[in-house]
Amino acid sequence: MSSEQSSSRSPFSESFFEARTRFIDLAVHCGWEVESHQRTPSDPANLFTDVASIGPASARKVLIVTSGIHGVEGFFGSAAQLRLLSMMGQERAEQEGIRIVVVHALNPFGFVMVRRTDEENIDLNRNFVPTLEDFAGVHDLYVTLEKFLNPPKWPKLEMPFQVQAYAATMKYGMESLREAIASGQYEFPQGLFFGGTGRSSTYRFVESHVEQWVGQARQVLHLDLHTGLGDSGQLQFFIDHDLTDSQRGEARMVFGNRISSLDGPDRLYIAPGAFGRWMHARFPEKDVTSICAEFGTHDSVSVLQALRAENAAWHHCPRDSEERKKTADHLKEMFVPKSAEWRNTVLAEATGMFNRSIHDWLLVPTAPSCEPESAQVEQQSSTFDAEG
Ligand SMILES: [Zn+2]
Repeated sequence: MSSEQSSSRSPFSESFFEARTRFIDLAVHCGWEVESHQRTPSDPANLFTDVASIGPASARKVLIVTSGIHGVEGFFGSAAQLRLLSMMGQERAEQEGIRIVVVHALNPFGFVMVRRTDEENIDLNRNFVPTLEDFAGVHDLYVTLEKFLNPPKWPKLEMPFQVQAYAATMKYGMESLREAIASGQYEFPQGLFFGGTGRSSTYRFVESHVEQWVGQARQVLHLDLHTGLGDSGQLQFFIDHDLTDSQRGEARMVFGNRISSLDGPDRLYIAPGAFGRWMHARFPEKDVTSICAEFGTHDSVSVLQALRAENAAWHHCPRDSEERKKTADHLKEMFVPKSAEWRNTVLAEATGMFNRSIHDWLLVPTAPSCEPESAQVEQQSSTFDAEG
């Protein structure tokens, strides 16, 4: 019996390196095939993305589960993936003819450094734009707020953030602010939600491996694990690409009415560089549904405040400074709360999500032909959703 199977040990790791070791050990123990990919040979050393898979490449359906594209969110993603590894073994996958691919820590730099971005300050979920010409542009309102969002030096003495955020909300309205800030920007390399000026190392990594992950599958369900958006402990599914009627019906059948699609009534914002949008477009000949599974943590004003402080400290304070350490610790709490109640809740939600993905999608031989017409999307719209 591996130590992962002893119920006393929390699946949440204290560091990327601990998380990585546990992921590989459990995958091997449960009979998954593991491939390790060294990402950056320089500082910090030993950055890897590890990929565990089961089932034949000839399977008609594949479930792909990715974690940690937003670095620090990988603490949760890794814990959830440990649960998934122990739910299915090689023998059963072969018998059933199904395939699952689990990608651990797409952004190991951010995971190690406790940042949401990569080594170039890129928000990787804004980097998957369709063409190189798309690496330009910023919302006018982001430009107006730029000095506030990205203070040019460490903000020691200033009006409290909450007061400033409230004033901005009164002046510009929540909807506009949300879209301006969170949809991504390509002009301020040290700013929040920077999508890059070119392809990131993670984009290149995904591009060179994704065909292997998909194999010969005709149908792909991609779950990309995130935290920080929505009500605490609640799971919501965001889809950043167009859906066919059958994909929409299938997604609702598996995940219920917590699906927020592009054309949904309360759609928060559209990020042109979203990973899921790219995954869908990458395989036009296949049936790909890519879902951002968002687990809420703290209220969104607090999350934005933490992102802003951490980003300012990263760019304007020494790496070993107290400011850097404090803001990184606080950021971690915002994306991976210490609360045992939160951790139990999100792990239970994640386990349920994987169960449904396996039993109501992967093990179902063919796609359902009818769509529940009346399914209404119900959404809780939280106050200031700046993450995603
Ligand atoms: Zn995220």
